[in-house]
Amino acid sequence: MKILQGQGVSKGVEHGPIYFCRRSQTLIQPDKADDPRFQGERLDRAMEQAAQQLGQMAELARAQAGDSAAQLFETHAMFLEDEDYTGAMEELLAEGYCAEYAVDQAGEQFSAMLAAMDDPYMQARAGDVKDVTGRILNNLMGVVEGGIDSQVPVILAAADLAPSETIQLDKSKILAIATQGGSGNSHTAILARTMGIPAVCGLGASFNESYHGKQAYIVGETGQVIFDPDQETLQSLKARQAQQAQRRALMRSMAGREDVTLDGRKIKLCCNIGSLEDVDAVLANDGQGIGLFRSEFLYLAAGGCPSEEDQFQAYKRVALAMKGKRVIVRTLDIGADKQAGRFHLNREENPALGLRAIRICLNHPEVFHTQLRALYRASACGKIAIMFPMIASVWEVKECRRACQRVMDELTAEGIPFNPDTEIGIMIETPAAVFMAPELARLVDFFSVGTNDLTQYTLACDRHRSDLGKFFDPHHPAVLRALKMAADAAHEAGIWIGICGELGADPNLLPIFLAIGIDELSVAPSAVLPLRAALRKSIANRCTLDLLMS
Ligand code: PEP
Ligand code: MG
Repeated sequence: MKILQGQGVSKGVEHGPIYFCRRSQTLIQPDKADDPRFQGERLDRAMEQAAQQLGQMAELARAQAGDSAAQLFETHAMFLEDEDYTGAMEELLAEGYCAEYAVDQAGEQFSAMLAAMDDPYMQARAGDVKDVTGRILNNLMGVVEGGIDSQVPVILAAADLAPSETIQLDKSKILAIATQGGSGNSHTAILARTMGIPAVCGLGASFNESYHGKQAYIVGETGQVIFDPDQETLQSLKARQAQQAQRRALMRSMAGREDVTLDGRKIKLCCNIGSLEDVDAVLANDGQGIGLFRSEFLYLAAGGCPSEEDQFQAYKRVALAMKGKRVIVRTLDIGADKQAGRFHLNREENPALGLRAIRICLNHPEVFHTQLRALYRASACGKIAIMFPMIASVWEVKECRRACQRVMDELTAEGIPFNPDTEIGIMIETPAAVFMAPELARLVDFFSVGTNDLTQYTLACDRHRSDLGKFFDPHHPAVLRALKMAADAAHEAGIWIGICGELGADPNLLPIFLAIGIDELSVAPSAVLPLRAALRKSIANRCTLDLLMS
């Protein structure tokens, strides 16, 4: 038996073969080939396949998310024709190298050349070249689209996964996720929880490609990857799986029940989503609304700014699917780990403290305006609410409100329907917002606490680093006191307050949320029914603020 220890970031036990994706990126050796002509033919086939895939993906993207989403793949396809890029491959083939090495090196050279250019647009294309290079390599090595060339579902393994990669994976093929890097607060972990897939991250470099193809158990609760379990461990794993199946059945019995404590206190249990696809999970888990739609994933999937029409269609679809239940769309929150080279953001020394979220929107009024127009238009089709991330100052909220007013005036003048009473809220994610909560509460309709960032900024602790371990403690009394300060200010001003950070899904904290008077919890869809079960067993009047003191 062998056990690798990492950090469990999404619960559940699954068993299956380990599948290391993006093998191509690390295994390429400068091997010489005996038959250069054969290598040339292989390369041609891989390029043709890439062109076909990109054409299909552009069409799919156009149908699902509109023209601007399709453009990303069209740009990728153009690189397949670039003579500098393909010329470098041919030279290496002529020197006798295998096709894989020729592609890998040509990709490195060409992307380095673009990255060194002065023009930020061209610099940003370096990432596109890496994507295209990866695609050709995958074709050469038989790794199929979606990164998973397997007939059976697998445990997806990788050094790390970018959020944009995670959303593009074929989820029907993924039993669980295991990564060398990452932490529980990374967006990949959040997405795993949204999809209800067990995940372990921070396994370190010893979890490497030598495990590709090996059967393993992933235990999301303990953060373990277990190979060849001994008899006793096997029995306990099977028992856990049986309990898991039982728990799932029990949870299903919670669907359709009210979110209420034994003594009648209600907390609305809603869901966090990152894409249109996630709405199915919200409905399946009986979420009472969407408390956080991370709209930036539309931008990441589109590789840039989706047009007003594309965004309108996306928000409208979610609003209609939720049939009158509230859908809180958070305006664009890129920067930090959600790096978007195509927005031409500069590399920053401290990205979490830099140009991100609302700061980008206020600096790029045209991007903000387009999103607000789409949101207000969608407000005529369902119960849309708008939420601004990373607020630190009163003036930011006033400027956001002015931007909303401009959009409403425009739509009125154009005779386009919208809901003028669309709720406007802010995320409480910075200590500044907590201290300013009484003033901020007078400007908005609701608060939603982003405990992932609030913990990061309150404790001065990077949420994405796996090695900070116990120092990143969302249960820290400082974070809980911040929560109470924000809640008191909200209630004093007569507005409601929710939590949409990961902390909201922790059933052990329900008593404190009840004691503080939190009105809504927005969590991964898979966390709704377990929370409902815990809520329905709670007595709100017996909950105390003890945890705040220790
Ligand atoms: C948060 O910070 O808690 C939050 C919900 O936003 P995100 O995780 O997307 O930064
Ligand atoms: Mg945040």
